[in-house]
Amino acid sequence: MARVYNFSAGPSMLPEEVLKKAAAEMLDYEGCGQSVMEMSHRSKTFDKIIKDAEQLFRELMNIPDNYKVLFLQGGASTQFAAIPMNFMNKNKKADFIITGQWAKKAYQEAAKYGAARAVASSADKTFSYIPKTTAADFDKDADYVYICMNNTIYGTKFPELPEVGDIPLIADISSMFLSEPVDVSKFAVIYGGAQKNIAPAGLTVVIIREDMLGNAMDITPTMLNYQVMADNDSLYNTPPCYTIYMCKLVLEWIKAQGGVEAVYATNIKKADILYNYLDSSSMFSSTVAKEDRSLMNVPFVTGNDELDAKFVKEATAAGFVNLKGHRSVGGMRASIYNAMPVEGVEKLVEFMKEFEKANS
Ligand SMILES: *Cc1c(COP(=O)(O)O)cnc(C)c1O
Repeated sequence: MARVYNFSAGPSMLPEEVLKKAAAEMLDYEGCGQSVMEMSHRSKTFDKIIKDAEQLFRELMNIPDNYKVLFLQGGASTQFAAIPMNFMNKNKKADFIITGQWAKKAYQEAAKYGAARAVASSADKTFSYIPKTTAADFDKDADYVYICMNNTIYGTKFPELPEVGDIPLIADISSMFLSEPVDVSKFAVIYGGAQKNIAPAGLTVVIIREDMLGNAMDITPTMLNYQVMADNDSLYNTPPCYTIYMCKLVLEWIKAQGGVEAVYATNIKKADILYNYLDSSSMFSSTVAKEDRSLMNVPFVTGNDELDAKFVKEATAAGFVNLKGHRSVGGMRASIYNAMPVEGVEKLVEFMKEFEKANS
């Protein structure tokens, strides 16, 4: 069996140990004679799986007790509507920093429900940097400030959080979930789709400070009401059971690596290998301002579309797949999430060096 090095932005690689464990438990989960796919979400066995997953999140992310951890569906994109419906209901306005397509979509969706304001944007340079803001830029009466902390498409990450004073801060961390330590207490809400770094597609994890709950607009669909989901421990209806189980396996894997700090150290190592090469190469270069570079998503270009296409084609043939950049940016993008081994990045760089030699 030959597995490729998969640099997909999402859905993306899962740790091989996790896939093997899931395969071994496929037909008979812990002696209960059935697969997790087949069992009732009200069963004792599944109840333990979802509770264990929540406990692991709390432990790995050091989540304070006054936060709820919700297991939801509909992807991060569904939260773009749920967030304004649940939280944009005091002064009916919210501030957004537009750092790419995902932040923009969240902003546009919120604008349907209240006064959404773009406080800053990096659209002027194809979102290749994170705009600087100060507390004075935000409306003190805003119901929240919204950011997308790691920008999957453009390869940027907030090097530090914006100073927002007492305004609740909400962040989309889809593409950096559990890739580095994050101080949850700095956020009112922090959430992400699972398919980038913590599970297969189908699960969205939303972590909410309790005082944010209970203020949803009357029009909020029951399924998008965080209070309802919190009151029912994410079991108001059938949750994505198997994906939650896979998520639990990934969290156990992270714990076995030594936790988020250990995974972070490895992620820095991987990103350094790739960025150091990009900064020294005379063919390939990074598209992102140095201080704002993502550890997870690394876009790069040769500056020549034909050469980019040739590189992607030859890399694919050599077992380095899904390196084509997002259609809105072009070039290449290597997503190097938690599950990508150091060896995968080392081998990619070796391949890039050979390509550079052969084509210059
Ligand atoms: C992928 C992604 C999304 C969209 O996620 P869906 O689950 O497809 O809705 C939103 N935000 C970020 C940062 C992403 O990387």
